Amino acid sequence: MGESFIPAGTLVIYHGSRPDRHGLHIAMPCPCGDCGSLKALSGETRYTLQDPSGLTPGLSHVHRDSITPHHRGDE
Ligand SMILES: [Zn+2]
Repeated sequence: MGESFIPAGTLVIYHGSRPDRHGLHIAMPCPCGDCGSLKALSGETRYTLQDPSGLTPGLSHVHRDSITPHHRGDE
């Protein structure tokens, strides 16, 4: 219940505002300065997502609401 921090390297399902990118990704905390400032000011973490297949570029600054950790065996 509620939101929780997602450790770097977690497999997640993206279901945010880019339907063409929906699906499995590998999440890392977003390393950019803007997201670093946001985290320092509000404690909110945003994420960078990598396509495990490497076929599409990653997404950056992704809200926690837009991703759900994927548990292997759920599919
Ligand atoms: Zn960022």
